[in-house]
Amino acid sequence: MGRLLAVALAKRGARVELFEKGAADGAHSAARIAAAMLAPLAESAITEDNVVRMGVHSLPRWKQLIDELAKPVFFQQDGTLILWHRQDASDAERFASHLERNCDRNQALAKPIHLDGQSLAEIEPGVAERFTQGLYLPNEGQLDNRQLLEALLVELTLMKVPCHWNQSADPEQLRNQQNGFDWVIDCRGLGAKEAWKQVADASKNLRGVRGEVIRLHAPEVKLRRPTRLIHPRYPIYIAPKEDDVYVVGATEIESEDLSPMSVRSAMELLSAIYTVHSGFAEARILEMATQCRPTLKDNLPEISIDYKPDQAKLMMINGLYRHGFMISPAILDCALEVLSLGSSSTATNLGLQVSYATNQDLSTCAS
Ligand SMILES: Cc1cc2nc3c(=O)[nH]c(=O)nc-3n(C[C@H](O)[C@H](O)[C@H](O)COP(=O)(O)OP(=O)(O)OC[C@H]3O[C@@H](n4cnc5c(N)ncnc54)[C@H](O)[C@@H]3O)c2cc1C
Repeated sequence: MGRLLAVALAKRGARVELFEKGAADGAHSAARIAAAMLAPLAESAITEDNVVRMGVHSLPRWKQLIDELAKPVFFQQDGTLILWHRQDASDAERFASHLERNCDRNQALAKPIHLDGQSLAEIEPGVAERFTQGLYLPNEGQLDNRQLLEALLVELTLMKVPCHWNQSADPEQLRNQQNGFDWVIDCRGLGAKEAWKQVADASKNLRGVRGEVIRLHAPEVKLRRPTRLIHPRYPIYIAPKEDDVYVVGATEIESEDLSPMSVRSAMELLSAIYTVHSGFAEARILEMATQCRPTLKDNLPEISIDYKPDQAKLMMINGLYRHGFMISPAILDCALEVLSLGSSSTATNLGLQVSYATNQDLSTCAS
């Protein structure tokens, strides 16, 4: 989120400096580990309507944002495929009717399409041997998160934005007038945990939700689009990136434990994908990774603003949880509006919470 915002602000002519605790590769970010699926309808089964609206807003914006970058980024919008084994048909039926109800509530969502054996074989021949039906969610997408981080870095370099790598930042210190900033924008993900304890509504405490993913090289598997398996115990997704790389995930565990992947999680993820495509048997494991999703108590994202006299204004953006890629262009647009106008009608329309620590009218101090 921070890198995206830094690029957008620099492009608009702002003088920007970026501070990052880790190295330029983003190794400590959730963003580097994510599968980067952009799936508002699939996610509508487990998230709130406002997050779904942010996801719908963000899909076309990703296309624009990526088109403006000097370095190409893999971006795909060929839909999501949902599969299930015969014994899980009743779960799949419930899932499909849930999505259909969500489409009735939000007309911007394209309805899911039921696939029989023949139509499944047409769109995803690689799984047609094992599955005779599926559900297709048109319009959904994905991108390559590591290519995006790299392309944003190139952009920062081209615009000569000073980037302070391996430098842990304290936003409260950066706000001191002698640093010369008008705004300090805190996008530290889980690194902002202490700061969120100071936000007016203390119940908003930030927590991490552990997620484990496996990266595979699987040239024998030919999946064309992100595929999710409905399963009572191991609901998994498989996101095919370029060059036969597949990102398989993800566990979701209420813990901030960043230790390596457990044997249990590895076995669950790997055995589940093998039931989707036998070609995974000969895949090579490139990486098993763990990161925590930065999550606020209500599992919703938020922008919080604090204005104190004689200090830089502070904007905190956090709680992107499991949807950081799906919704960050929407959050970017809202943040840019707040920075230039003092408020955001886009945030109001999308239902993104923008909270103010004081009642100060920010339109008088926007810069
Ligand atoms: C396993 C997994 C799978 C996921 N899959 C998806 C998906 O398919 N689709 C999707 O939309 N989202 C997905 N996500 C969620 C997404 O990755 C996050 O929502 C998103 O990365 C959050 O962005 P952020 O910028 O707030 O935090 P981060 O990406 O964590 O970035 C925070 C940055 O702040 C830096 N930092 C921390 N402390 C400091 C400090 N004191 N000073 C300077 N820098 C600091 C960190 O080093 C890091 O680089 C997934 C996440 C995980 C873990």
